[in-house]
Amino acid sequence: MIRHPHQLHAQAALWSLRRALRHLDEHRDALLIRRPQLGPAESRPRTLAQLARHDELLRTERAERKAGSLTGLKPSAGSAAPGDAPGLADLERDLHQVLVEVHGLLAYAHHRDPLLAWTPLWHEVLDEWDIRRDARWTWLSVVLPATPARIAEAVALALVDADQLVRSYAGLDADLIAPPLAPPCPACDRRRLRIQSSAPDSARWTVTCASSCVCIGDGCECGMDVPTRGVRHIWAADSALAASIAAGVRTMGLAA
Ligand SMILES: [Zn+2]
Ligand SMILES: [Zn+2]
Repeated sequence: MIRHPHQLHAQAALWSLRRALRHLDEHRDALLIRRPQLGPAESRPRTLAQLARHDELLRTERAERKAGSLTGLKPSAGSAAPGDAPGLADLERDLHQVLVEVHGLLAYAHHRDPLLAWTPLWHEVLDEWDIRRDARWTWLSVVLPATPARIAEAVALALVDADQLVRSYAGLDADLIAPPLAPPCPACDRRRLRIQSSAPDSARWTVTCASSCVCIGDGCECGMDVPTRGVRHIWAADSALAASIAAGVRTMGLAA
């Protein structure tokens, strides 16, 4: 299947964000203890009892936001506690907004498409959006390869930003593997290709070069399916380049 680099970047960012959110979920309590300092200094929790109270407030606020969004109300903008600024709640509110926008963009792009036939009332899908619901991620993944490049570009920008926000909050590096013995980049000839390993299945891992290695369009040596001027190089999982690198990584036992 021919993939446009904007589609590939959007898909890679989607996997990456999903993985970052799972990390956030799994390490929620530890992160709240490590990063309770987002409020003013005087209101930072200093004892375990205060931390527990802080955590409780966040949980309450989350439930309230959820209830609010189900009835079509905007999520509450502030914290449940005066003088307290829970960065995690703010982050989740922003993420919710980004994902609703992304979903809206894609739903609009495909509103005449049979892919969306099962959700003719897609605004209801938006109302009941839950960033942790698997079906939403699956839906986004399914429509991305069929999404016009310009829209995929907007989606990629939004998702990359959101992913970086979550990762910087959680102290989580990008999911990049530096493959040993990989060939040099066909475009810049430097050995700095990286595997983006966020997708759960290694058969879906894409390969990128450094962010400064961008395509020059027609005549570029990169070998991408659709050479596109100005886009950071990225190779689909089923491209010869990515397949050979992934095979090498599997041989060395670095991936399943
Ligand atoms: Zn390069
Ligand atoms: Zn190129």
